[in-house]
Amino acid sequence: MDMTFKPLLEEKPANKPIIIAGPCSAETEEQVLTTARALAGKGVDLFRSGIWKPRTRPGAFEGIGTEGLGWLRKVKEETGLKVTTEVANTQHVFEALKHQIDVLWLGARTTVNPFSVQEVADALKGVDIPVLIKNPINPDFKLWVGAIERIYKAGITRIGVIHRGFSYHGETKYRNVPRWQLAIDLKREFPDLPIICDNSHICGRRDILQTVAQKALDLNFDGYMTEVHPDPDNAWSDAAQQITPAQFLEMKEQLIFRQPTTDNMEFLENLEHLRHEIDELDEEMLNLLSNRMRLAERIGEYKQRNNIAILQSSRWNEILERAVTKGKLKGLSEEFVTVYLKAVHQESINHQEKVMNQPRAEA
Ligand code: PEP
Ligand code: MN
Repeated sequence: MDMTFKPLLEEKPANKPIIIAGPCSAETEEQVLTTARALAGKGVDLFRSGIWKPRTRPGAFEGIGTEGLGWLRKVKEETGLKVTTEVANTQHVFEALKHQIDVLWLGARTTVNPFSVQEVADALKGVDIPVLIKNPINPDFKLWVGAIERIYKAGITRIGVIHRGFSYHGETKYRNVPRWQLAIDLKREFPDLPIICDNSHICGRRDILQTVAQKALDLNFDGYMTEVHPDPDNAWSDAAQQITPAQFLEMKEQLIFRQPTTDNMEFLENLEHLRHEIDELDEEMLNLLSNRMRLAERIGEYKQRNNIAILQSSRWNEILERAVTKGKLKGLSEEFVTVYLKAVHQESINHQEKVMNQPRAEA
């Protein structure tokens, strides 16, 4: 589907990051206003706060509800900050619009469900408001695109996406693993669609918030969204990942927003030169890999003649161990060398298989 997006926030210059901050949930009027006052006038574009909270298990704090919308209205009036909240159904949309919420967002648990996305889209028909769409909980690219399309078809053209990571079953340092490639793919498919990194829900903890936000900015993300609370340890939801306004402002100062491009000629020429060298190396690597496959095919021919199995586990382990050790000396991570060699090995096996399953050429 062809989509043309309008700028998410009209007054925002393209060379500045979109910054969203505020508590996970609105808890009390005092907590909301204290946070907003600390963030006002400090370069924050949108004040976030959850009003209706989708919680994994019943009994957890499920949001303060409509009353909190009045507090967000006060935030606007008192501090001039624009406000955003999560909506998941028709009633949420109506209430949020009635209370003049500036920007709406769809949560990960909504994007995952086309019925819910369609319900929100239908409620938004004829309304002109920016909408942010979080990635679905599972790494399903099409589901994310589908939600964007549904909202777009409702007539919303000021759309942005929020990357909040993906659910993962297993050991990981993240609460939701980033799988950056999905966000990069989305950026490639929709270059005009602003993409914002929700470092809070990716990390689930405070100590790596800055690293993850910087990584996103280095990947040309258009901004970040971070949960900020005046007393994080005692927050009613997501306590482990929230930071104080002061900690947030310090992180913001340290984050570097690099420009996607420049018109500095000297820089552009040097870049061009380095890129050319990279292209040459890439080509050389492809030639080398192709030569490697020819050798694998020759080995395949010998094995076929002598009736030897393709996979020789001891040989494979030896290659892998040697490469990991050498790679480390050359500054290549074990993870990279392993993934790379596994792919090369699989391709070699495919080539050998092709040769070995050909009818034997009688000499
Ligand atoms: C949130 O932003 O507080 C939230 C509920 O996030 P997500 O939908 O990404 O889980
Ligand atoms: Mn949260």
